[in-house]
Amino acid sequence: MPRKLREADAKLNGERAALASAKETLTHALTHRKKLELDVEQWKTRAKKYREQSSSVKTNEAYKALQQEIAGAESEAAKAEDLVLEQMMAIEEAERRVKRLDAELKESEKAIAAEKKQIEEQFAEKKKGWETATAERRATAKKIPEDLLELYERIAKKHPGSALAQVRDGQCKACGLRALPHTVQLLESDTDEEIFRCESCGRILYSLEPIPHATPKESATGAANS
Ligand SMILES: [Zn+2]
Repeated sequence: MPRKLREADAKLNGERAALASAKETLTHALTHRKKLELDVEQWKTRAKKYREQSSSVKTNEAYKALQQEIAGAESEAAKAEDLVLEQMMAIEEAERRVKRLDAELKESEKAIAAEKKQIEEQFAEKKKGWETATAERRATAKKIPEDLLELYERIAKKHPGSALAQVRDGQCKACGLRALPHTVQLLESDTDEEIFRCESCGRILYSLEPIPHATPKESATGAANS
């Protein structure tokens, strides 16, 4: 569960970083547009000033020079206006990107919140199952003699989940070793309470024969053996 949650958080963090970076790009683009707009204003102001001066010049040369200055300033203003237009397109592009990443992040947040909830529910269910099984085991262990329980736990450490092995057809079902006929006979007897272990794998042996709910024929076979 922690790994799954970490992966989900890493995905969200990646998307958040991408959105933050897109927003920063947009802010820069907006600032740059403002600067370009100021350039346009400055060139236009300058052209206007030259035009005002042109009415008061005395010589032809001075007039010509001013006209050149006006043309220059107007051309600069036009260039700056083109740059503003280009910048507007860059801004639109940046705005679209921010919008898209924002929508994607919201979608991921929703999906991951649902996934987290599911993971937590699964975990709670597993925990409950584990607690039930632990309580059951504790209750069962209480009924078992201490030395036998110790033996069981020692074997269970070596063979997790299968400290016991069934004997069927004279064989240990866990490792396949044949059991001594005398051992099998005692295992199948209802009265004998001795503990037998497989000589090869060391598991505690048990027999389901004679099976209490078995068909009469099988019961008869079991009875005949004992
Ligand atoms: Zn065995």
